[in-house]
Amino acid sequence: MNSGYVFDARAVFIALAGPFGGAIAGVITGVAAGLTRFLIGGSGTFAGIAGIAVAMAAGVIFARFGPRRQTLRSLAILGLGTATMVFSLLLTDIDTAGSLFRRVGLPLTLVNILGVMLLGYVLEGTRRGTDHLRVVEFNADRDPLTNLFNRRALAQFAQNLRRQETGDTAHGCVVLFDIDRFKSVNDRYGHARGDVVLRTVADTITHRVRRSDVAVRYGGEEIAVILIGTAIDDARRVAEQIRGVVEELVFEHENQHFSVTVSAGISAFDADGTQLEHALDFADRALYRAKNAGRNRTETLLVPGLEVVSTGSTAS
Ligand code: GH3
Ligand code: MG
Ligand code: MG
Repeated sequence: MNSGYVFDARAVFIALAGPFGGAIAGVITGVAAGLTRFLIGGSGTFAGIAGIAVAMAAGVIFARFGPRRQTLRSLAILGLGTATMVFSLLLTDIDTAGSLFRRVGLPLTLVNILGVMLLGYVLEGTRRGTDHLRVVEFNADRDPLTNLFNRRALAQFAQNLRRQETGDTAHGCVVLFDIDRFKSVNDRYGHARGDVVLRTVADTITHRVRRSDVAVRYGGEEIAVILIGTAIDDARRVAEQIRGVVEELVFEHENQHFSVTVSAGISAFDADGTQLEHALDFADRALYRAKNAGRNRTETLLVPGLEVVSTGSTAS
């Protein structure tokens, strides 16, 4: 082997960094490999860096314009692109290039093509498995109609809250919404239209709370929102705002327009003493009051003895 020349399978990893880590990852990997090659030095430095640049370019181009899912065919194309790095040997003088081509040209090309195909295939399999797991995990915590969290996720959240005994996230409020006279919406406009109403109310609620808050489909047409670290006055304001937005929504069924309203019950929880489940129970009683008082309103009922965080201290 001519001294100062390094031949290995590094181009395979550099080329795959783009399609599997994104264009930026591809560039970072290429630059890091190029710098390393520069520090190794020797007479093949220039050709070595050019080879790395070709592999990086193949990966980055693939990341930008190639398919999202890799197949053996797409990986073969990437492998061929990567293998063109062998021409970087031409950057040495003609005698050295000829001798290097004869000795390493074929093995280097085969390693690049087969390496990209084999390693890429394994990486694609792993990526698909991870994606699938993520979808399964997401679905296990969600209600399919409204996309809100389900009761299972709420139980998990309550458990996490119990472990977290201090801090801003350990107290907050719960608001329990219930669509008023929803049965008659189903009866008049059909169950499918009822589903649309429910989904729209759910979307309205999720858009009006922070991403860190937890909106749960608590029952058929009941939606619970856990407002983390929120003071009671702010919770009331949020609930009133949502109630106001919902009553303005207009739905249509066979040229008839109709609206719905929601009632809400509000309560609060803190880390030591009043647990979330307790607060949900009191929010439910407050909701019952709101229904009895004529619907389309919010009522608050606090657990006796609870020290409520007032607006101003931890207002969100
Ligand atoms: P109130 O104002 O007292 O809450 O009256 P309501 O009619 O809303 O209450 P009730 O508990 O009598 O009825 C709830 C209705 O919600 C009955 C049920 O058919 C409907 N419902 C529950 N889940 C769904 C759903 O996923 N889709 C549709 N379309 N309807 C649902
Ligand atoms: Mg109802
Ligand atoms: Mg109900």
